[in-house]
Amino acid sequence: MTKSLRLLKKVIKAENLKKEYRNGEIVTKVLQEISFEIKQGEFVAIMGPSGSGKSTLMHILGFLDRATSGDYHFEGREITKLKDDELAFLRNEKVGFVFQSFNLLPRTTVLDNVKLPLTYSHSKKNVDEIAKKVLESVGLGHRLNYYTNQISGGEKQRVAIARALVNNPSVIFADEPTGNLDSKSGVQIMEILQDLNEQGNTIILVTHETYTSEHAKRIIKIRDGKIEDDYSVAKRRLARDGEVLK
Ligand code: ADP
Repeated sequence: MTKSLRLLKKVIKAENLKKEYRNGEIVTKVLQEISFEIKQGEFVAIMGPSGSGKSTLMHILGFLDRATSGDYHFEGREITKLKDDELAFLRNEKVGFVFQSFNLLPRTTVLDNVKLPLTYSHSKKNVDEIAKKVLESVGLGHRLNYYTNQISGGEKQRVAIARALVNNPSVIFADEPTGNLDSKSGVQIMEILQDLNEQGNTIILVTHETYTSEHAKRIIKIRDGKIEDDYSVAKRRLARDGEVLK
């Protein structure tokens, strides 16, 4: 399939998503009437201040949590009514996660961390070879047998990216992926994510940092659990440049 055709395919459709937490009489509304679509090949940054609901939204989109109400379609499939084991299957097969805190297994090698998602999906043969290839693609071919406590923060995050990629997911979710890194390693991680997007991967990044969001093509801004703005970076830049020229 050509890249332009792939771009048209809808991966995510969220309609009126709401998330509330109930604690006795107290109801906390974390997300309210969230609606948007994301197509294959997009690179979207979900931005907003701390506590605005970004991680909650990412967890719902990545099958780690459920909305209180609203509809969520992933690749055309209604997700809201799926059972827990069906959600777990989708979580392993369809999405990859990169977290701020890396979430790697300690006392386990780099290679074994990346092989882990493959061992859940029994259909995959030659897991060693697949995991090695992905680790080489993020520049870690020389660290395969290191333990995860023997490598730097930037390398840990590259292992996490390799682990997210190894099942060839439809969407990669990255939740503040540079939050625990020095700025040089942070830039390297963002460049890897940008390369992955240029190769056709759909990426959803959660961030409150402007420098990381600059790698995205579209920004969805959230405030107090609502979408405040949703725009294409290129179109906004063109409009702004047009204003300057006037
Ligand atoms: P962000 O990622 O933008 O920092 P979060 O999605 O982590 O925001 O949190 C949004 C809001 O939801 C916060 O005010 C947080 O306190 C609240 N929240 C998260 N989890 C719970 C919970 N289990 N019970 C009650 N409130 C929660």
